[in-house]
Amino acid sequence: CGVAHAVAMVNGTAALEVALRVAGVEPNTEVLLPSLTFVATPNAVSHLNAVPHFVDVNEQTLGIDPAALRLHLQRVGESKAGQLFNRETGRPISAIVPVHVFGHPVAMDELLEIAASFGIAVIEDAAEALGSQYKARQCAAIGLLGAVSFNGNKIITTGGGGAVLTNDPNLAAMARHLST
Ligand SMILES: *Cc1c(COP(=O)(O)O)cnc(C)c1O
Repeated sequence: CGVAHAVAMVNGTAALEVALRVAGVEPNTEVLLPSLTFVATPNAVSHLNAVPHFVDVNEQTLGIDPAALRLHLQRVGESKAGQLFNRETGRPISAIVPVHVFGHPVAMDELLEIAASFGIAVIEDAAEALGSQYKARQCAAIGLLGAVSFNGNKIITTGGGGAVLTNDPNLAAMARHLST
């Protein structure tokens, strides 16, 4: 995928959980997820005692719709001291997980821009998109971290397995520490 670090995990769900954790997702914060995904994505959030916050998808990419997301965050989001909050629940919104469903790349440029403007981390769920490219970049290599799966139904399989991908050496070291 052209990333500096790939850290082996027991499966894709654990890869997502570890990626979210090293990205700074704390318990009782919300993580933005597409409403169309495999249950592992919200499970990884729940395993950290964080809360899935589903947003709508786009019928072309099948992934998070940037225009709908921007409107949604303008409506429910509130920035206080550089931290985004959900004004309906009072909880911080800590991260967003674009999912490249069925190998279709999400509109990453738009999502990265929205995430940067609201100060939230981007973790790609590329469990179904190993080998997919978005504007000549590999899926899983575009966000702060990416998660892939090597489960039996995936593109490359080890029976069960996964990996966290990142260019950040400190996040890779933390992921390696947590996984072992
Ligand atoms: C398969 C899959 C996962 C989880 O991978 P496992 O290795 O089965 O834990 C996560 N997200 C998506 C979108 C998947 O398809």
